[in-house]
Amino acid sequence: MRRCTWRDCTQTAAARVRFELPNLLAGSERDYCQAHTAQVCAGPGTWVQRWLGPRRAAQPVLPGLPGAAPAGRSSERGRKGVGP
Ligand SMILES: [Zn+2]
Repeated sequence: MRRCTWRDCTQTAAARVRFELPNLLAGSERDYCQAHTAQVCAGPGTWVQRWLGPRRAAQPVLPGLPGAAPAGRSSERGRKGVGP
């Protein structure tokens, strides 16, 4: 597993970022974790070349995360808990 190349970061790299002009690192590629990939890509001349590691690491955030609306869970799923 590659590590994030951000200074002092100990996270596993999640993506390879490509640098182009006008970025100071133009022409180089570096691996960053998910958080730092987002941070680096906020700057000019940067884009994600490809995502690294297992696919589940690059999984998009699901719109219906548990905890956001716990009231709506019982109507669609979880029928095994229905009583007599
Ligand atoms: Zn990092």
